Amino acid sequence: MVLYRKYRPKNFSQVVGQEHVTQTLQGALKTGSVAHAYLFTGPRGTGKTTIARLLAKAVNCDSQTHDACGVCSFCKDSEEGRALDLIEIDAASNRGIEEIRALREGARFASARGKHKIYIIDECHQLTKEASNALLKTLEEPPAKTLFILATTEPSKVLPTISSRTQRFDFKKLSSEQIVAKLQNISFTEKIDIDKNILLLIAEQSEGSLRDAESNLSKLVAFRGNKIDEEAVKEILGFIPENIFFDFFQMVKDKKSSEAVSLINNLYESGLDLDNFIKGLLGYTRKILVARASSSNLNRANSNEKIQALAASFDSKYISRLFGSFMRAQQEMKISPIPQLPLEIAVVELCEEQFVKL
Ligand SMILES: [Zn+2]
Repeated sequence: MVLYRKYRPKNFSQVVGQEHVTQTLQGALKTGSVAHAYLFTGPRGTGKTTIARLLAKAVNCDSQTHDACGVCSFCKDSEEGRALDLIEIDAASNRGIEEIRALREGARFASARGKHKIYIIDECHQLTKEASNALLKTLEEPPAKTLFILATTEPSKVLPTISSRTQRFDFKKLSSEQIVAKLQNISFTEKIDIDKNILLLIAEQSEGSLRDAESNLSKLVAFRGNKIDEEAVKEILGFIPENIFFDFFQMVKDKKSSEAVSLINNLYESGLDLDNFIKGLLGYTRKILVARASSSNLNRANSNEKIQALAASFDSKYISRLFGSFMRAQQEMKISPIPQLPLEIAVVELCEEQFVKL
């Protein structure tokens, strides 16, 4: 069971986040002022394709609700992927010249069913130059009752002549709270026994992508069934609890290099991905840096006491030394015959460095 497909919103009211997009689109639907071309930009997993499909349904829906009703023939056909007037082109897997040529031909003919013809072009920045130019020609003289929805993660790569002919919406990363709320809903419906704290771990790891968070929850259920604890998240998603990073930095601070080295070894032997661990160290170092930078203006709300304690003991020069050492270890790990060695050397050096500095 793939949760993100099962729980994909069926109408605008079910969409999590992106209110600035859904409200504007619903307003346009109500006043009959839907544009003929849209450009949806933003990070992966933030709802671009989902909202494109909802807009397509709402435009052609038989109900007078200005939303997808889910029961009329167009809504049903598009949910099942067989609506003739809804054409989806994935420019990432198919650079598109054939499709765009067909699109140019097809768009000239109105829908036989009196509906709008809707083209959703995903990852449109990947269209070839020829395909982009062909699309541009169509956008310059848009046929009646045709709607183009272009989506991209890289708006700077879309031809300016194309984006200037569209109405653009920038999608935002979802907040952890928004993701947790959706995951809580899913867990409740699916009778998954999982703590809110653990959902928060999943949300934080997905970095604003609801789709990633939902796939990770699916993965956990697939491996562990309907009862999921922190152990499962650690093991299956390679997640490292924050207190391990704190312990690690505490050891470095106290110059306990042998303890820090054996912590690395234990993590490695327990099957933890060291690259993931170094990424976590970099993320935690950044939190220390931010806490240090904000300590003077009393803006401490975003860091906890442990991070603040470390921020007080490391000067900014040492913090940038931490960044440099971890990034170098990350590079060297790729060619090292002993994977954990570069990180171990970095730790020993960092502990020694402190002796000199402080
Ligand atoms: Zn409908």
